Parts: sequence; structure tokens; C-alpha cells
Amino acid sequence: MGAEAHPIQPRFRDRGLAERILEGIRDLGVEANIMHVCGTHQDTIMRFGLDPLLRGCGIRVISGPGCPVCVTTQREYEEAGLLMEKGKIIATFGDAARVRGPRGSLLDRRAEGGDIRVVYGVRDAADISKRLGKEVVFLAIGFETTAPGTASLLLSDPPEGFSILCCHRYIPPVLDAILGMGEVGIQGFIQPGHVSTIIGVKPYERLSSKYGIPQVIAGFEPLDVLAAVYMLAKQIRDGRAEVENEYTRAVRYEGNPKALEAMDRVFEPVDIPWRGFPVVPGSGMALRKEFEAYDARKVYEDELSDVAALEISEDPNCRCGEVLRGVAEPEDCPLFGTACNPAHPRGPCMVSIEGACFISYRYGPRARAGLGQRA
Ligand code: SF4
Repeated sequence: MGAEAHPIQPRFRDRGLAERILEGIRDLGVEANIMHVCGTHQDTIMRFGLDPLLRGCGIRVISGPGCPVCVTTQREYEEAGLLMEKGKIIATFGDAARVRGPRGSLLDRRAEGGDIRVVYGVRDAADISKRLGKEVVFLAIGFETTAPGTASLLLSDPPEGFSILCCHRYIPPVLDAILGMGEVGIQGFIQPGHVSTIIGVKPYERLSSKYGIPQVIAGFEPLDVLAAVYMLAKQIRDGRAEVENEYTRAVRYEGNPKALEAMDRVFEPVDIPWRGFPVVPGSGMALRKEFEAYDARKVYEDELSDVAALEISEDPNCRCGEVLRGVAEPEDCPLFGTACNPAHPRGPCMVSIEGACFISYRYGPRARAGLGQRA
């Protein structure tokens, strides 16, 4: 999966305007922790050096569970590994294929005869199945951004032998879980632009009324992020808890009704764990009964029964779980930049280009100080 490319959009990168917004934030005199749940936001914040500037204004931006490859549990990766061992072709995104578990990554298992194909999306995976006339399982990872693609493929005419190992997740329930757990004091959320183009504004409103938390949906350019922080700081200063939309050029209140309808026809919410989290109620997307002929967990129920017996332990030294919950920063991990780096990642947060550890390695204080090679 990939962070959004940053095409040159000078309008959203105007230095003078950025300085004026920062001054505005500073003048509000608010001290707050603000969480975002999007790898692309983290990329923008670190790549453009916004993090120290915002800290200088009293705002600490915390990275949450916004990397889909990172929040997918080891058990889900092991399910894919098991199917590969049993002769199925697994198709998935490149970074998902590189996440290491106790038995190595899915790519490592290629050396043992496993067949894994790296694809850009579900349609590529279905095409492989059609072309080869073989059983192909797509390890479907991602939030509401990628789930509509999976839904649309299943509503068209998927080839025989093609199935989905569904690991899609809904974002709003995990936000609820973070606030409910109360592990980290958060005074506002920057909500993800991509997800919000699909789900719109409404699903966030319940959180503001339940927890009194201000939220702003933001785009991905530096000025988008700064404007969102300004809007949040203003809400905090004024004692408001609303959902505001900074990214009006892409996000409509109602979201994308067609995509939502497709998702609703294909998926139903289920309770599932996220990496680093306990079970999050209603946060998983399971294929509805009408689509069980394409549901790898139903089609290969016998093959997958062994997964329950597998010892699935997380690397005890990797702090990805805490990083994803926002209670630790990548630099808090003793392996960061030494035993764990993009060439030899120990945890998913260093594998994925949307992972907080990868992004910190590439653009954070260590990189700014010239330590370590650039990935
Ligand atoms: S630096 Fe590596 S080992 Fe440490 S939390 Fe990040 S991914 Fe895990």
C-alpha cells in the first residue's frame, strides 16, 4: 500500500502562509495532544518538518493506528502463510508481503516453494487467477479507502477459484476504542482525508458527542495539516467539540454514496483485534453470507483450522503495538535505527511506507542529524 505521492501544489505549500498559520496557532495559546490516524498525514508532517514547528506552538501531533499493513494482526498474516503452504497463490501489496512473523514474511516463504504475487490491487489479483486458471487468494488489507474496490470486484464477476482473505477494517470504531481506553490524553483528532472521501463527515459526529472531542478532516498538503491543527486549536480554546471539514475540495458531508452502498452490500461489521489493540467491537469487515463462495475463510475452512494451533508470538522487543496506540514514539524503541531499519525491519511499522517507524527513520530527528542511510 502506498502513501499518496506529493505532486507539486505550490498553493498548498506557501511558506509565508504556513508561517502565518503557525503564528495563529501560537497566538491561540493552546497546549494539546492531537492524534491523526493516517500514514499520509504522518508522511506530510515529518517530510515537511512540521512536527518541531507545531511542538514550538504547544501542539504535539501523535501518530495513531493509521497504517493498514501495520494494524493487520500477525494471525491474519499467518492465515495467508498457511494457505500458501497449502498450495494456494497469495496475492497482496508489496509491504504486506514483507511483514515478518515468527515464520518469516510471506515473501520469505517463497524460498520454501510458496507462490506469492505482489499486486497493486484486488483487480490485479483477480486477473492473475483468471489468466492462470488457478486458486488465488487476495489478502485484502486496508480501511474504507480500499474496501470499496474489493466490494466492487465481488459485485462484478470474479473468476472461479478467486477468493478474498478479508482483513479490511473500519476506522471510526478504533477511534472510539482509543478514546475509551484513555491510555493517551488526546484533545483532538485530525481525521484522514482518504477515508473521509468515502465515509463523509457523519460517522465521526457520534465521537464528538460521546467524548466531547474536537475533530477536523484534513487533506494531505502541509497547509492542509496546519490549517486543520489551527481549526482544532481554535475549537479547544473555544470549548467546542465539533467535526469540521478542512478538506472540502474532496470530502462531502455524505461521503461517496455509491462506494458506501457497495461496501454495505458486501461487508458486515464484526469484532476483531488490531495489532497492539484488544478486540475492537464492530471494526472488522467480514464478507456477508451471499459472498461466502469468495470468502477464503469459508472456502478453506479446513486448511485454516490449523491456524488456531499455531504459536503466534509478537517480537517482544518490537514496540509497534504501543506506537500504533500512540503511547510510544518510534524513537522510544531501543531497536529503532539500529537492529530495526528499512533494510532489516523487525516490525510492520518499519516495513510499510505508511508506518510511523519507517517515516521517522526517513525524515525524523535521526535523518535530520544525518544518521543512518535514507531508505
Ligand atoms: S523500530 Fe522496529 S522494532 Fe521498534 S517499534 Fe518500530 S518497527 Fe518495531
